[in-house]
Amino acid sequence: MSDIYLDNNATTKVDPQVVEAMLPYFTEQFGNPSSMHSFGDRVGKALKKARVQLQELLGAAHESEIIFTSCGTESDSTAILSALKAMPERREVITTAVEHPAVLNLCEHLEKQLGEDGYVIHRLHVDDKGRLDLAEYRKKLSDRTAIVSAMWANNETGTIFPVEEMAEMARAHGAQFHTDAVQAVGKIPLDLKRTAIDMLSLSGHKLHAPKGVGVLYVRRGTRFRPLLRGGHQERGRRAGTENTASIIGLGKAAELALEHLTFENTCVKAMRDRLERDILAEVPNAFATGDTSARLPNTSNIAFEYIEGEGILLMLNKEGIAASSGSACTSGSLEPSHVMRAMGIPYTAAHGTVRFSLSRYNTMDEIERVVGVVPGIAAHLRSLSPYWSDGRPAVAEEAFAPRFA
Ligand SMILES: *Cc1c(COP(=O)(O)O)cnc(C)c1O
Repeated sequence: MSDIYLDNNATTKVDPQVVEAMLPYFTEQFGNPSSMHSFGDRVGKALKKARVQLQELLGAAHESEIIFTSCGTESDSTAILSALKAMPERREVITTAVEHPAVLNLCEHLEKQLGEDGYVIHRLHVDDKGRLDLAEYRKKLSDRTAIVSAMWANNETGTIFPVEEMAEMARAHGAQFHTDAVQAVGKIPLDLKRTAIDMLSLSGHKLHAPKGVGVLYVRRGTRFRPLLRGGHQERGRRAGTENTASIIGLGKAAELALEHLTFENTCVKAMRDRLERDILAEVPNAFATGDTSARLPNTSNIAFEYIEGEGILLMLNKEGIAASSGSACTSGSLEPSHVMRAMGIPYTAAHGTVRFSLSRYNTMDEIERVVGVVPGIAAHLRSLSPYWSDGRPAVAEEAFAPRFA
């Protein structure tokens, strides 16, 4: 039996059509798009096509709003640092407690800068379903805010934030609005020209294109300062010779993502729903984390109380099933993730979270196989747990498990 990959929020398989589109740009079409001869010219035309493919996926008004970068992380850094440099009189950043480390760690770094170089960072809280409180957001927004950076969808739970509304509110205060949409792009429909979003990040490898290529969308008219200075590539907004093959692959991936958007929201969603429903029906003391009423169609993050998520992952891996732990960060720390902590998931459950993230390459047969093994794995691990006996918790949760602050 072949392996089953349910870790698509970590990275995705490159679509074979994307590989095919890229191949000529390693061999015959090796020109530098800045060159004044036909070698460069042909590649330049292909780059322009890729830009238009991204414009269409995002619903951007102009292809010039698409800047190619090296990854989602670079796009996030460029956006936030650009706003701070463009509006030096504004010293505050608003973000959320559940952002990807690409945003959170940059903000922490900015906060730690000393004295006049430092910034005030506001991290918006989320409730137990991972939802923001827009009243709290309204209170933090002011004419001191340079930029608001809030993810469109959370990578661990799939929870979708109301970024369009948030962008309108930021604009009313003259602040720029950036969204890390790495997980949202290709999974939910986007139409940026109808929003007040100024900047958006996406990453190739989360959308069936290669690793090492991304996009920063910058709305026309947004005050912008480049992170990398040098050559005049990307209209002077991101210097460095273009990663031509990968950009062309990302263009193809964008085209395919647009074609598959309905499939994602019907078939992929149906597989995700089936997986979640059957697991929750058969495993006691388990629940889906995040806001299941505003969620990406491909993601299910399930908390199995009184079990270590890592144990489940190891046993799933033995069955040829790849998922991911929402509970501990990859650094080997045993602390639950910042996302679970921000939601105040009880300790007994936060350690036992498993993220299943699907793609259009999964099949219902695979889902049935997964659903067939998860209840047995949960029962086995619980049979080894001192906190579990006779099919239920052996201790009252309150007895030993304080909620996170
Ligand atoms: C993966 C991811 C990133 C980082 O993208 P890279 O291309 O790997 O740098 C940023 N934000 C979110 C939400 C992600 O899921």
